[in-house]
Parts: sequence; structure tokens; C-alpha cells
Amino acid sequence: MSFQDQTFIPQMQPWFSVEEKKSICSYMESPGFITEYKRTEEFETLIADYVGSKHAIVVNNGTISLSLIGLALGIGYGDEVIVPNYTMIATPNSMKMIGATPIFVDVEQSTLCLDLELVKQKITSKTKAIILVSANGRSPKAGIEEFVRLANERGIYLIEDAAQALGSRFPNKKHVGTMGVAGSFSFSAPKIISTGQGGAIVTDSDAVAQKIRRLKDFGRASGGNDIHDTVGYNFKFTELQACIGIEQMIKVDERVGLKKAIWEKYKQGIKNRKVRLIENNIDEVSPWFYELLILNDRDGFITKMKELGVGTRAMYPPINMQNAYNIPGNSQFLK
Ligand SMILES: *Cc1c(COP(=O)(O)O)cnc(C)c1O
Repeated sequence: MSFQDQTFIPQMQPWFSVEEKKSICSYMESPGFITEYKRTEEFETLIADYVGSKHAIVVNNGTISLSLIGLALGIGYGDEVIVPNYTMIATPNSMKMIGATPIFVDVEQSTLCLDLELVKQKITSKTKAIILVSANGRSPKAGIEEFVRLANERGIYLIEDAAQALGSRFPNKKHVGTMGVAGSFSFSAPKIISTGQGGAIVTDSDAVAQKIRRLKDFGRASGGNDIHDTVGYNFKFTELQACIGIEQMIKVDERVGLKKAIWEKYKQGIKNRKVRLIENNIDEVSPWFYELLILNDRDGFITKMKELGVGTRAMYPPINMQNAYNIPGNSQFLK
């Protein structure tokens, strides 16, 4: 069978099966409030155990999770937060939402992660944090330890946006998202696991975890009462999402294995073409996308792939060039 005979392969597609459906149905057969409760706790425990963190707190998505980390760390108006110029726009937007100013720094060509030396140049007296995004599960060339060291030396926070990195580990074998003060994961439709929408914060800090739990539940100190000594909001999860999330976590190794197998397939199939693969170490990383750098006739390549039945997607344009920010810089905007 040739490629042409197969049905179209979309660039992304969530993968749910009968277990998720059964779990939701069985939940609905017993009386429940649907809002977060026991199943959500179970989902949180599965995430914490999987990544090796003390706490995991689930919220509505992987953008608000970053804003909540920022709020819990006291980041707000007048503070600068260093973010990569190549990332999903949620990373800087999450800081905008809490009044902080994202400062864009270029990424390394080989890892698409923040360039440590360029980060150092952008730290000012207003810098409160660095958000390191693990692009497609990768880690920066200098090593995560150097980012931890830099943050400690300069008295700023290292936050990990690990939205794309469930199942990915650093070379030191620690799970991505667990080296900074807190890490954030996304469970939106195309991510490594999905609950439709959803996100998680992981941290080893009891204080940060407690603050985030309060922030996501109207500032309540404990459940079941309406006494509030802090201001909070509502970023809670639901049991139906947790039913799906638990089943997705049970299959996470299988899902990650499949991602790696797909990566290998493309790698073999794309050999000898005039495109450059952005390498990834799939022994450590669960690849989310298969990224190619195409310097010549990108549109032609996209059209050809479409003819062959394979969906593609142009990756994130430089954020400083997007109308939402429009900050001068020397990045190129590839349409
Ligand atoms: C997907 C993604 C987000 C946002 O996650 P949502 O759950 O869609 O809000 C944030 N950062 C990065 C790097 C992402 O890939």
C-alpha cells in the first residue's frame, strides 16, 4: 500500500478509547457533584508519582497553571519575567494576565530552549523569574543545573513550563518540570495526555502548593466553609475530566512509546530530503512534534506532504513579531 492509499494523517489528534468512556459512565451511575473530589485527588497522585514530585495540583488548563505559580510566588505588576521568544504564546500571556512584563529571549537553534548566555544578559533588578519551556520535551544545551544555579545566584525563581513534556526527562533522569520551584503541564487536546482542557502544577514546596490550592478555590483555607482570609479565584477541575485523566495516565507509558515509534518512522522516512530535523534524544524525551527546519520552499513542502496525506503545521512565529506584542527585534517572521 502506498502513502496515497491511506487516509489523511492529521497533524494532531487526541487519542481516547473505551476505558475513558467506561470510567465516565461508571462515575455517572453513582451520585456525585461532578466537581473535583476523589477522582481528581487520584489523578493528582498519579501525576505526582509519575514525575516524582511531592505535590501535583490540577487546574483548568496549562496557562492558568503558570499564572497561579506566578501569583503564588508574588510575581505581579512591575516585575519582569524572562520567557523564550519561541514558545506557545500562552507562556508570556500567563504573565501578562497577572500584570508582569514578559521579556523575550531567543532560543538555541539545536534545542529550541532558552539560551543561557542570552538569559544572563537580560536579567535586571526587576527580574523576578525565568520561565524555561522544554520545547518538545528538550532541555537546554547548558543543562538544567546551570539554569537552577543561575536562578539561585541571582535570587530569582526558575519556573518550568513543561506543557509539552509529560514523559520527558532531563539527562540527570529527573522528570522535566521538577527542577524549578514549580512546573506546569497541559492536558489540552493535542498534548501527551489530554482531558480536553486541563493543566497541572507540580512542586516540592509545601508553601507554594498550599498557596496554589487556596488560589484555585476562592482563597479558602479549608473545604466546606465560607471563611476567607486570602483572596482567591476559581480554577477548579471536574471529576469527569479526572475520569479521563486517570485512564490516560494508566496508559501513559504506552502513549509515550507510541510517540517514540512515530518519531522513528518519520526519521527513517524523511532521510535524504533537503530538510533539517531538529534533533531530539528520544531515550529521554517523549517527542510531541516531529520538527523540521525548511529553509527552501516551505510552502512546496507543506503542499507535497498534504498530497501524500500527511498534515503539517507551521510552528510558532517569533512572539516579539506577533501583533499582540510587536516588540522590535531581529527575528524573522516566516509565514
Ligand atoms: C500548550 C501549551 C501551553 C498552554 O496550555 P493550555 O492547557 O492549552 O492552556 C503553555 N505552554 C506551552 C509551551 C504549551 O505548549
